Amino acid sequence: MKKLLLTISLAGSCLLYNGILYAQQQTAPNIIIILADDLGYSDVGFNGSKDIPTPGIDRIAKNGVTCTNGYVSFAVCGPSRAGLITGRYQDRFGFSRNPLYAPKDSTMGLPSSEQTMAALLKGAGYRTGILGKWHLGTHPSQHPNRKGFDEFYGFLDGGHHYFPELLVLRDHTESRSQNDGYKTKLIRNQQVAEETEYLTDAFSREAVQFVKSNAQQPFFLYLAYNAPHTPMQASENYLQRFSHIKDPKRRTYAAMVSAMDDGINALLNTLEELKLDDNTLIFFLSDNGGPTNDNASNNKPLRGAKGGYYEGGIRVPFAVQWKGVLPAGKVYDMPVISLDIFATAAALTKQQPINPIDGVNLLPYLTGTEKSPPHKALYWRGPRKELYAIRTVEDKLIIQEGSTELFDIRMDKEEKNNRAGSAGAALPALEQLLAAWKKGLVPPAFLGLLENEEYNKLHPDRFNFKK
Ligand code: CA
Repeated sequence: MKKLLLTISLAGSCLLYNGILYAQQQTAPNIIIILADDLGYSDVGFNGSKDIPTPGIDRIAKNGVTCTNGYVSFAVCGPSRAGLITGRYQDRFGFSRNPLYAPKDSTMGLPSSEQTMAALLKGAGYRTGILGKWHLGTHPSQHPNRKGFDEFYGFLDGGHHYFPELLVLRDHTESRSQNDGYKTKLIRNQQVAEETEYLTDAFSREAVQFVKSNAQQPFFLYLAYNAPHTPMQASENYLQRFSHIKDPKRRTYAAMVSAMDDGINALLNTLEELKLDDNTLIFFLSDNGGPTNDNASNNKPLRGAKGGYYEGGIRVPFAVQWKGVLPAGKVYDMPVISLDIFATAAALTKQQPINPIDGVNLLPYLTGTEKSPPHKALYWRGPRKELYAIRTVEDKLIIQEGSTELFDIRMDKEEKNNRAGSAGAALPALEQLLAAWKKGLVPPAFLGLLENEEYNKLHPDRFNFKK
């Protein structure tokens, strides 16, 4: 395929990046992000899972590129999604905690200064849809329809019951506590919906329908499964596949992953049937690492889990497919991050983001045109205490409340050997990069899930919905 490389300078962007014009592509591709929720690094076939087959998800890796060093910008759901959808480190705009279920609080979510990837792509004529979990605010002003999405089917809070008979609250006005956010009926745009299927199956069904309905125009689909996030709920047809797993929590987890995998398989089938697979760029990743105790996920051999900045919290299953453009079956091991998805979409559609973005267009790197590392460094800030991490190609530094750990992350991905005491010049160089990055951040803008009680005291009318 002939490729014409252009260097596009985007005014207002903090980065110059290579845009690629593909001679055989008349228009920019459809874009699909499939986001799993709390999926362990090693719980997909393409990362070596043995007890949970994922033939559907693995198709993306076989058709495209597996990013073995794929990261997200935060170790829990909400801030990670804020980074993903804006292409910016969420700490630049204070989205540094998991938002509470607070339907009366307009500040609990994305500030109006931020442009979502959906809003960006609408500017390029895309039809935009989100299915599943939002978790970027529950106030009406934070609704996906107000944030660039033409279509929304799902729920607004950070998790949900999977069986529709457990969705016993009609809408948020019947909520009386944080946990009630898991029990509301689903929403189709502004309307309460009566779902009858297991939630993962429902979102897969809707994804297939969205693609069929929008096959004649460019579309952006953000398929944000809540699987395999807690509560651990799987239907019998999926559980039956895993009778060989004795641990009941792991068995349920496997069934939840398998349901998602079936849905992804069906979505890929639909794209092929409609002959859209050559014109659709697909990303698959998890929003954070597996919370191994909560849902029995598996991040091995990575150390740590969701919520922390060892690799198990932030390095996630990550694969990218674009048939005919990206090489099939390639493994790419330079560090990349979820923020790159926005930058890639902006470059492909020649849209200029409103704000400076932190990602890079991944295509030249994944095709092999560009050999250098995509990022000088990747950065993380923790939610409450003094907690920071930085990753370069060679090194990873984690600083928390007086402790400093430095790992030769390329050779020591298990983070076993802290070499902070003998690092020489590497340590101050990383500290310098981190200090420069911190200058662009603002304090957390709202209280989060961990401050639920404090928030209740400050907002005694939080769940008072009397007219
Ligand atoms: Ca999550």
